[in-house]
Amino acid sequence: MTPADLTFDQQHIWHPYTSMTRPLPVYPVVSASGCELTLADGTPLVDGMSSWWAAIHGYNHPRLNQAIKTQVDRMSHVMFGGITHPPAVALCRRLVAMTPDPLECVFLADSGSVAVEVAMKMALQYWHAKGEPRQRFLTFRNGYHGDTFGAMSVCDPDNSMHSLWQGYLPEHLFAPAPQCGFGDEWDEMDIVPFARLMAAHRHEIAAVILEPIVQGAGGMRFYHPEWLRRIRRMCDREGILLIADEIATGFGRTGRLFACEHAGIAPDIMCLGKALTGGTMTLSATLATRSVADTISDGEAGCFMHGPTFMGNPLACAVADESLAMLEDGGWQRQVQGIESQLTAGLGPLRESEQVADVRVLGAIGVVETRHPVDMAALQAFFVEKGVWIRPFGRLIYLMPPYVISPPQLAKLIAAVAEAVENPAFFRS
Ligand SMILES: *Cc1c(COP(=O)(O)O)cnc(C)c1O
Repeated sequence: MTPADLTFDQQHIWHPYTSMTRPLPVYPVVSASGCELTLADGTPLVDGMSSWWAAIHGYNHPRLNQAIKTQVDRMSHVMFGGITHPPAVALCRRLVAMTPDPLECVFLADSGSVAVEVAMKMALQYWHAKGEPRQRFLTFRNGYHGDTFGAMSVCDPDNSMHSLWQGYLPEHLFAPAPQCGFGDEWDEMDIVPFARLMAAHRHEIAAVILEPIVQGAGGMRFYHPEWLRRIRRMCDREGILLIADEIATGFGRTGRLFACEHAGIAPDIMCLGKALTGGTMTLSATLATRSVADTISDGEAGCFMHGPTFMGNPLACAVADESLAMLEDGGWQRQVQGIESQLTAGLGPLRESEQVADVRVLGAIGVVETRHPVDMAALQAFFVEKGVWIRPFGRLIYLMPPYVISPPQLAKLIAAVAEAVENPAFFRS
């Protein structure tokens, strides 16, 4: 890539959450293999992000590449209306088998946000079909469910700036985020405000929507599994649906295949995305129970009212099926446990640092929460200089590497984080 390419990029291309007038620098990556990204000048960077939870098997994996190559010669795409194809059936068969038992009806879509839109629409249609229309969702503060309007309406109201969309965005119910952490002793008081909110609105609430165990982009917080057991019971008592957004947590990241398993519960609707294709292509899935699917189908519309153009894209399905096949041998468990131990040992001592407010580790996720917001551009440049790709935001420096990362590669990521938190220049006060 030439300097002119980068100038063009700055002047014409939006990146995630950036300004067009004051864009943060971007780094040109020309290839990626295993756990390394390669910059245009040849510099290799050890990847600490898995491209936002997605690239769990590392980059350029021969099995995933082969699945795409084989499928591309047969058929890249075909419409899903009135047509089915082997990659979609193979993938959905695996998804039904892997996910908690009552989930057995699969809707394939393009991205995580759309999977959330689909889940919310299913809940609305479900209540409409029952002849008791309900239009509100109950969720936590500090949540993140995507950037489309429906999904955004259940994201943290401050983080996703609901003030900007006032009068346009539906107003849902927000309970305080769980305070009782994953490894903490269960505190009965923690759930009181949530329970009160549900009781006060029990006849309006269509569904509870939450990220099980890990609140991701809304703060990288890990909460107590008892929360999920209680919410499952409350929902059952009231007949309210439970939507688990496992888009970030699904496929082993937290040490279990799905984060719901930490609590032994099953939702009525589950959203999957991100790691679904091993980080190669965009694809998402929303799974529902037979009862939800039947109720919707027997309603006024007689069908579920959604059908994206690229629904069930064969290339994406083929590579997702291969990625799931790679998880089925169970090797990921040992890998994630190894990462968890190394993150715990390596990041734990940073609690002593003056800049650090908290360190938390769960599965292959390591989070250093700092006292002050990071200077993103300066810190990113430092990490690149150190030969690592780590993308901090706000007061969070976090690692979620591919499961196949080697101990020396992970040590390099941890050492860079440790060095960063010792330098006050990287923090705004
Ligand atoms: C990333 C994410 C989404 C949105 O997925 P996109 O593919 O970015 O639309 C939704 N929910 C959770 C929990 C996520 O982490």
